Amino acid sequence: MHDVWILAETGHNGLKDISFELLARGRALADTLGVKLAAVVIGGGLESSEAWRLIAHGSDIVYVVQDSRLEHVTCIPYSRVIEHLIRKHSPQILLAGATTTGRTILPYVAVKVHSGLTADCTDLAIEADTGNLLQTRPAIGGNIMATIKTPDHRPQMATVRPRSCRPLKADPSRSGQVVSELFETAWDDDRFSVEDIRVPEGDRVSIEEADIVVSGGRGLKKKENVVLLDRLAHLLSGETGASREAVDRGWKSYPHQVGLSGKTISPKLYIGVGISGAVQHLAGIKTAECIVAINSDEEANLVAMADFALIGDLFEILPEIQRQIEERRRSS
Ligand SMILES: Cc1cc2nc3c(=O)[nH]c(=O)nc-3n(C[C@H](O)[C@H](O)[C@H](O)COP(=O)(O)OP(=O)(O)OC[C@H]3O[C@@H](n4cnc5c(N)ncnc54)[C@H](O)[C@@H]3O)c2cc1C
Repeated sequence: MHDVWILAETGHNGLKDISFELLARGRALADTLGVKLAAVVIGGGLESSEAWRLIAHGSDIVYVVQDSRLEHVTCIPYSRVIEHLIRKHSPQILLAGATTTGRTILPYVAVKVHSGLTADCTDLAIEADTGNLLQTRPAIGGNIMATIKTPDHRPQMATVRPRSCRPLKADPSRSGQVVSELFETAWDDDRFSVEDIRVPEGDRVSIEEADIVVSGGRGLKKKENVVLLDRLAHLLSGETGASREAVDRGWKSYPHQVGLSGKTISPKLYIGVGISGAVQHLAGIKTAECIVAINSDEEANLVAMADFALIGDLFEILPEIQRQIEERRRSS
């Protein structure tokens, strides 16, 4: 039977979170199909313990392709490696993150192996009678959810929205196989070289990585009041998020936006201040561990789905929370 594959991603600090999220997705699909789950990891110098982390998080096989020429993610060499592995092992499904890496590499691979690709999926399942992959993603500006199938071509390929599911807990007793594959010189692309890597300003806002996110919406009334959010986020060592209303009004920049057309996040604590909880906003916080709503309207959607709600005027509640935190810190 043909396996389910995921493309793991590495960064300066080893494997990225998306690799483990993809393993959780892949594991569920592989179990439904009764096949193995494999992770493909390509890079310049992966520690061998990293391959075993992939196994502990759900992989049965890890294909490792390591070469100094693969230190930076570059479209042609990476794609050629994946194309070669696909032709050699014939997976039925290949998932990658809807990240810069996945969005760059997978379209190229899809063309080369004559298959389709569904970008930015938020849900994946197996169709009961056919075994086809059901690839669900927001469509028509996020107004509908579309489910797409690739019945006639293999592998079925999809990129998956980061933070749209939680990784499985590591199980160190799991066993698996690590397979090293060689990088062939012919796969290199000597037409360009990486001279420098710069991180764009917006990418430094990391609400996706933060354990605590304090988000504000239209209830803040005006830009000058956003400082109330920033102060609370700072006190809690968190990041500031925003609803689309707040971003459209220019109170916060787009990298802070949470929701369907913004970022999907999974913080340990999400505090939504003056945010009603429209479905498009809730789509970005489905995997948050604990949600607190601060709203004057007890009927607001976010209040209904929150673990805790503070009903009242945010202009009284936020300064009071700040005062109490500072007081407790002084006395402890
Ligand atoms: C295709 C599409 C994609 C979208 N993508 C996103 C997205 O990614 N993210 C997103 O957020 N939205 C998105 N939206 C917009 C979404 O539908 C809502 O319009 C938006 O989330 C509402 O923002 P809000 O909650 O800040 O404002 P509102 O809905 O106006 O809510 C303001 C809240 O503040 C409360 N409030 C007012 N004054 C106070 C006060 N003094 N104290 C306490 N509470 C107070 C009110 O009770 C209310 O609940 C999208 C819409 C579409 C059509």
